[in-house]
Amino acid sequence: MAHHFECTACGKCCYGQVPLTISDAFSHAARFPLALVWTPLRQGSKDYAMVAHLGTTVRLANRKELAVLIVPTAYIPPAFPCPALNADNLCSIHSNKPLRCRTMPFYPYRDEQFQAELLTPREGWTCDTSESAPVVFHDKKIVFREDFDQERDALEQQHPLIQRYADYMLKYTPQLLDSLAKATLKAKAGQVVTSLSSFLTATRNPDAKQIAQQQLPVLRLRWLIFTAITRIGRKKWLI
Ligand code: SF4
Ligand code: SF4
Repeated sequence: MAHHFECTACGKCCYGQVPLTISDAFSHAARFPLALVWTPLRQGSKDYAMVAHLGTTVRLANRKELAVLIVPTAYIPPAFPCPALNADNLCSIHSNKPLRCRTMPFYPYRDEQFQAELLTPREGWTCDTSESAPVVFHDKKIVFREDFDQERDALEQQHPLIQRYADYMLKYTPQLLDSLAKATLKAKAGQVVTSLSSFLTATRNPDAKQIAQQQLPVLRLRWLIFTAITRIGRKKWLI
């Protein structure tokens, strides 16, 4: 079956969190407020194998296993636009935008055969899925796949660093396992958020100081806006 899709540049998918590769996160450190977002999945989920492959797995006290997605993320509240979104709803960094934005609406943490459902626009999105739009997915395969393959390759290559971070955090943050277990109890996949600084420390990033300096003004500005307008200032981060 053929699936059609074309972006009409409404900018609606440029609100809220933007999952990033490690490389994209660091190269946009002066623009995005960064955090690490952990999303646990129970066994039986169709994304389980891919998430376990690109993230990590943990075993809970009740011996059940979870797959956990660990993603460097532009941590922006759902009602807030990406800092790179212009007033005309166009991306101000189009030629340099993160891989995640190039691959949208496809999602490389999901097996390719299940990507068709991501082509259904969410409420308020004006993506063109009529037959006049190009065919982008056919016979369970992505047609124009350069960006998807590039993002998937980047996620594969960065996996040793993600695994090292997971091992470090699970060893030195005993409450993390409980937080992940609690997150799986929510109807919609819950998240646990950890700081960029813990990632820089765990992975012994040689550019940690420079990245932290780039983040400072971004975090100061965002924190002021978040606490003034939303309740995110009261949200508990794990570390
Ligand atoms: S970087 Fe550009 S395309 Fe990506 S979310 Fe921000 S405005 Fe949208
Ligand atoms: S919601 Fe759809 S139409 Fe709007 S910017 Fe995103 S991909 Fe394009």
